[in-house]
Amino acid sequence: MEKSIWKVNGVKIECIRGDISNQPGIDAVVNAANAQLRTGGGVAGAIHKKAGPGLQNEGRKYAPISPGEAVITGAYGLPNRHVIHCLGPVYGVDTPSDKLLSSCYKNALKTAQEKGVGSIAFPAISTGAFGYPSEQAAKIAIKTVYDMLKEPGGIKKILFVLFSKKDYFIYKDIIDNMTV
Ligand code: ADP
Repeated sequence: MEKSIWKVNGVKIECIRGDISNQPGIDAVVNAANAQLRTGGGVAGAIHKKAGPGLQNEGRKYAPISPGEAVITGAYGLPNRHVIHCLGPVYGVDTPSDKLLSSCYKNALKTAQEKGVGSIAFPAISTGAFGYPSEQAAKIAIKTVYDMLKEPGGIKKILFVLFSKKDYFIYKDIIDNMTV
C-alpha cells in the first residue's frame, strides 16, 4: 500500500490511500459530518452505511453541531471504538474557513484524548461537497495536528486516509518535507 510516515514526539503521523470506513485497528475514525449528524454523500455516507442506523440515532442527541465542532459517539458496525463527528466549514461561506477547519482537527484530537483514544484516522474534511481546495486543507490539517502534538497526550498514531491518488500525494509531499 502507498504510505508515508513521520514521527513527532513519539507519535506516528501517517497518510494512506483508502476508505475511512474500513480502518480496523484504529480506535477512532473521524466523520466529515453534516450539521444534523445524518448520513449523506462522501465520508458521511460511507461511515453511516457501515455503522448502521444506531449511529444516526445516537447522533440525534447532539445535533445540530456548528462548523469547527467535534462530537464523539459509538462506532456500531464499524471496526472501531468511536466515531468523532466534525462539521467542516463550507469553503468561503463559513468564515474564517481556515480557522474553522483547524478547529475541527483540534477539537477532534481534544475529544479523542479525553476518551483515552490511542489512534485516530482523519479524512480530508471539507474537501468534497464543502469545496475546500485540497492543498490548502492538507496544510491546515497537518500543521494543526503537528502543533497539537507539542503538548503531551495519549495519542500514539494519527492516520490521514485519502480517497484519491491526487490527495494522497498532496499529503505525502507535505509529510515527506516536514523536518522536526
Ligand atoms: P465535506 O462535506 O466535509 O467536504 P465529503 O465527504 O464530501 O466531506 O468529502 C471529504 C473528502 O473525503 C473528499 O476529498 C472525498 O473525496 C473524500 N472521501 C469520500 N469518501 C471517502 C471515504 N469513504 N473514505 C475516505 N475519504 C473519502
